[in-house]
Amino acid sequence: MDTLRMNQDAAEIAQFDALANQWWDPHGPLWTLHAINPLRMEFIRTHTPLAGLKVLDVGCGGGILTEALAREGAAVTGIDLAAGSLATARLHAEAQGLDIQYRLTPVEDLAAAEPASFDVVTCMEMLEHVPDPAAVVQACAALVKPGGWMFLSTLNRTPKAFALAIVGAEYLTRMIPRGTHDFRKFIRPAELARWLRAAGMEITHQQGLHYNPLTRQFHLSPGVEVNYLVAARKPS
Ligand code: SAH
Repeated sequence: MDTLRMNQDAAEIAQFDALANQWWDPHGPLWTLHAINPLRMEFIRTHTPLAGLKVLDVGCGGGILTEALAREGAAVTGIDLAAGSLATARLHAEAQGLDIQYRLTPVEDLAAAEPASFDVVTCMEMLEHVPDPAAVVQACAALVKPGGWMFLSTLNRTPKAFALAIVGAEYLTRMIPRGTHDFRKFIRPAELARWLRAAGMEITHQQGLHYNPLTRQFHLSPGVEVNYLVAARKPS
């Protein structure tokens, strides 16, 4: 099965590859990923320590989350389909003295080749950019060892998310580049929960990621109507 061609949107990949040399600019077009990174690490840490674990970061881009995971002492692999972004990720990790394995491979292929081989699989801000997110969730779940964890984040398909994440962030404040997101690809928590359950995962926690335009700060909060994080565990 040629999954490399199947479950990816070439325009989406190209859009991120065009930003390949801007991943590590904390004030550049991807600054929101830098801003939310400590919060998603905090979310992950409340569920599991990472030191000594085998971790896979799916849709890793330039490695913002990947490097933070490695700094916790995990043995981390990052995968993406954007070659330019992976090149940036490799160079940056090397400059930081971090030993991270970066691979250009579809998650479905890795799941077929190395099932149940990671303690933790992360997939953040990526599901809303693929044609078949349920298949990505299924592949991620297949890669988790029994008793292991999966951490996801995406955008909810609500009027509030349309107003804030598209109209507000892309048009009014230009926080992120125009065209970054397509509202129709946003994912309701109930949909994500259904895909996770179908893949044999148990959801343990959902939390919202909120932005305060006055302070220009993000914070974790209970409401999941815009950006949200999900923790799920595979039964041992
Ligand atoms: N997860 C990172 C980057 C998010 S940006 C973070 O949160 O910091 C979305 C990333 O998903 C981009 O790097 C893009 O290249 C990647 N992506 C989009 N479609 C993909 C697919 N089908 N398979 C793997 N990665 C994909």
